[in-house]
Amino acid sequence: MEKKAKLTFLGTGTSSGIPMIACDCEVCRSADPRDKRMRASVLVEYGGLTILVDAGPDFRAQMLQHDVHHLDAILLTHNHKDHTGGLDDIRAFNLAELHPVNIWCEPYVETTLRREYGYAFAEEKYPGAPEWRVHLIDPALPITVHSNAGEEVLSWEHGFGYHHLPPHPAPDSSVEVIPIRGWHHREKKTSVLGYRFGNIAYLTDIKMLDSEAEYEKLKGVEYVTLGCVKIGDHHSHPSLQETLDFFERVGARESYITHLSHQLPRHEDFAAMLPPHVHPAWDGLVIGG
Ligand SMILES: [Zn+2]
Ligand SMILES: [Zn+2]
Ligand SMILES: [Zn+2]
Repeated sequence: MEKKAKLTFLGTGTSSGIPMIACDCEVCRSADPRDKRMRASVLVEYGGLTILVDAGPDFRAQMLQHDVHHLDAILLTHNHKDHTGGLDDIRAFNLAELHPVNIWCEPYVETTLRREYGYAFAEEKYPGAPEWRVHLIDPALPITVHSNAGEEVLSWEHGFGYHHLPPHPAPDSSVEVIPIRGWHHREKKTSVLGYRFGNIAYLTDIKMLDSEAEYEKLKGVEYVTLGCVKIGDHHSHPSLQETLDFFERVGARESYITHLSHQLPRHEDFAAMLPPHVHPAWDGLVIGG
């Protein structure tokens, strides 16, 4: 039987978050806590593993708010800063868990990480720089995500940094995650991956799926998400109509809109506009489980 996943929305906002700096619009000034949106990220519990999708600039605040003490892996959707800008803070997990953090991403995303976090890839590292292990994704194949218990052990020495020791012979568990290939732009520019965890598929920043084969990968999901930033047409995100068409085609039991911007109505008004099985997500919402 297919494994069931539980997904917690840690952030449901677009790249600027809501409220946006220096904006006095009614969405940014709303008193409804569901209108406060951190940058898009979800925490998925699946097959005994704790998997984070994206680590944007609000990563630290999100980990603290949800009291997360353990991560097995981080899956990155694409290389935009609102999805990768918080990765330096994995240092806290290195210290707490004494393992490198496993990151899965496409090769072009790793190239960006090597440029933007050069110090974490250096031969001779500054003591305490992030310790991570990057695993590359082939979007055509399922990803085997394994627990971090099977990774090498870190041992901290003041003035030196981390020593890397062989892994404990711990029972290593793993799950299969299906990457869903999409594009940020209609002209097939900037590859973005969505991820299917059994009965739940998380997609954001996808203007269009790569091909029919990607829709096949979504067959039978109970819950699905898609990012949408405004009602009308947008160059790199689906319009509301495109989002609703996608949800209808996938045919999940419940569908959730994430990556919302202040150009959409306030949460309550937006929810009232949507069909019965389509909902705006909000920070803290839990689905599945
Ligand atoms: Zn984004
Ligand atoms: Zn605003
Ligand atoms: Zn993006």
